[in-house]
Amino acid sequence: MTMAHGEPAPRDARGRPVAVIGGGWAGCAAAWTLASRGVPVVLHEATGALGGRARRVERAGLPIDNGQHLLVGAYEATRSLLWAVHGRRVDPGMRRQRLAITPFAPASGAPALATAGLPPPWNLVIAVARARGLSWDERVATLRWMSALRAARYERAAGETVDAMLDALPRRVARGIFAPLALAALNTPTARASSRVFAHLLGRISRGRGASDFLLPALDLSELLPEPAARRVEARGGEIRLRAAAVVTSATDTGVDIYAGGGRWRAAAAIVAVGPHQLAHVFAPGVTAHPDVADALEAAAAMRFEPTATIYLGFRERYRIPGRIARLDDAPGQWIFDRHDVLDRAPEAATARALEGLVAVVISAGAASDDLDARALAARVQSQLKRLDASFPVAVWSQVIVERRATFACEPGLRRPRTAAIGPRIHLAGDYLDPNLPATIEAAVASGEAAGRAIARALAAT
Ligand SMILES: Cc1cc2nc3c(=O)[nH]c(=O)nc-3n(C[C@H](O)[C@H](O)[C@H](O)COP(=O)(O)OP(=O)(O)OC[C@H]3O[C@@H](n4cnc5c(N)ncnc54)[C@H](O)[C@@H]3O)c2cc1C
Repeated sequence: MTMAHGEPAPRDARGRPVAVIGGGWAGCAAAWTLASRGVPVVLHEATGALGGRARRVERAGLPIDNGQHLLVGAYEATRSLLWAVHGRRVDPGMRRQRLAITPFAPASGAPALATAGLPPPWNLVIAVARARGLSWDERVATLRWMSALRAARYERAAGETVDAMLDALPRRVARGIFAPLALAALNTPTARASSRVFAHLLGRISRGRGASDFLLPALDLSELLPEPAARRVEARGGEIRLRAAAVVTSATDTGVDIYAGGGRWRAAAAIVAVGPHQLAHVFAPGVTAHPDVADALEAAAAMRFEPTATIYLGFRERYRIPGRIARLDDAPGQWIFDRHDVLDRAPEAATARALEGLVAVVISAGAASDDLDARALAARVQSQLKRLDASFPVAVWSQVIVERRATFACEPGLRRPRTAAIGPRIHLAGDYLDPNLPATIEAAVASGEAAGRAIARALAAT
């Protein structure tokens, strides 16, 4: 058996597997990490598919994603995991391009900005200095603001909102550049989004060459991590159990009892990788008495959630978006993504043969989508695009996916669980644990890997 990083295979004395509860990206990263170290894993997923909030959904034979997932070069944990999973190439499974804000309707006068291929801070300095649609004064004020943020090491007061943070910027810069970035990254309206977390993200993308680059998945989201992780688990003697909601019924220093699918089994340890709103259902009453479990449940219960709507539109005529991502005017669509790659991946599907263009329009934290049914929302987005570009084609195919609990609301002062390590045999994993990050793939992957490593170490020590 091949060992990752030359480590010995830690194994519970009785050869019992570790239970991973939840097959989203955090659970899959944990399962990959354990299996790669020779630890057998039983991965329980409550639904019929792995991937959680970042997964493929098949519609009319097309492998579309449940939402547009944009990563950045600074997401080190995700990049290095994908590097290990997909054969150690640069940015495997992803397409890299420079951070840019390109208005979909250039004539609208909305600001346009593109980073240069220089190390930070010059990539962003040059981007602002060359930005279109801003006056000289606006550019100077923006550069001063960015320099002050850097001097403060990207720290902000814990109770401040993004809107309050952006108050010091010229309005067009705040509303046309930074507020849309904050809304997309935190999936929380800027009036009640945490400036601390946003500033921390700005700090991360300013850390090294390429850190601010956009990374766009070049495979469907399930192929990117969940499916290869499942293959590795099975190849290393483990098991994937779908439609198997699991509950931790008791935990001791020597193992964890799991109830799932009508049966019980004793695991060597457990990684609980469910969403924060699902946490309360995973622990049986006896286990919730543990002070760290109680603390995590209390933090999770205080979280609120934000939706994200994705509207796919397909066209008979060829249609491409230069630069793959463009900024809309928020009425109601916020960003548009070129998704021709989906058609390329399903050349045999009848729908793919009938379409020459496919785009996805995103509405984050979407109050706009709450009171509209799918058909009405698609029609509203189609007329928005026609209003912004008179030559925009008529859609012949559409799909709307509204994720009601896409992310937790990343609000000022939001409390996270005080520890992910609940005793020696249980670890939490998930996108809600890192106080410096919003709900992201990166937060999920980093926590999953950390949990996998910690449990492997604990088992090796027994
Ligand atoms: C539309 C949309 C767009 C997004 N855009 C971006 C983006 O651009 N960039 C970015 O980085 N992030 C983005 N995100 C956020 C990102 O997808 C999430 O942060 C991440 O996928 C969360 O992973 P997770 O494993 O922590 O949780 P989840 O994906 O929620 O996984 C938890 C899993 O546990 C399962 N489960 C729950 N209870 C049980 C149980 N008792 N037993 C077994 N299984 C159970 C659930 O079914 C689920 O599969 C987006 C999310 C959405 C929905």
